[in-house]
Amino acid sequence: MTTIFKKIIDREIPADIVYEDDICLAFRDIQPKAPVHILVIPKKEIASLMELTDEDESIVGHCVIAVSRIAAQEGLSGGYKMQVNCGEDGGQEVPHLHFHLLGGRRLH
Ligand code: 5GP
Repeated sequence: MTTIFKKIIDREIPADIVYEDDICLAFRDIQPKAPVHILVIPKKEIASLMELTDEDESIVGHCVIAVSRIAAQEGLSGGYKMQVNCGEDGGQEVPHLHFHLLGGRRLH
């Protein structure tokens, strides 16, 4: 199944892309839950945390470092939240691993 995020990677549908490299892509969430709400996704099609294997270690590390760099780029010097929803019980809607970067207000 081709997810909406794969279509964003392939430029089949538009997104407000803020960062891209060979491993990951980052774009603004279409329904932001904070003044800054960015999704960082690996270009490799990994459905969720539950599908990770040892060979994905560097990809996940790369995505988390991208979150940190993008947060700095967005001026989130007061802190921010990184969230990963996993599976149905975890509230995951799009089955392509993604790291939410939320900031710009006090988060609870
Ligand atoms: P999840 O609930 O799976 O962790 O988060 C999926 C996120 O993707 C939601 O915050 C939702 O607003 C966002 N989203 C869903 N479809 C699109 C889209 O087509 N474009 C963008 N930019 N974000 C999307």
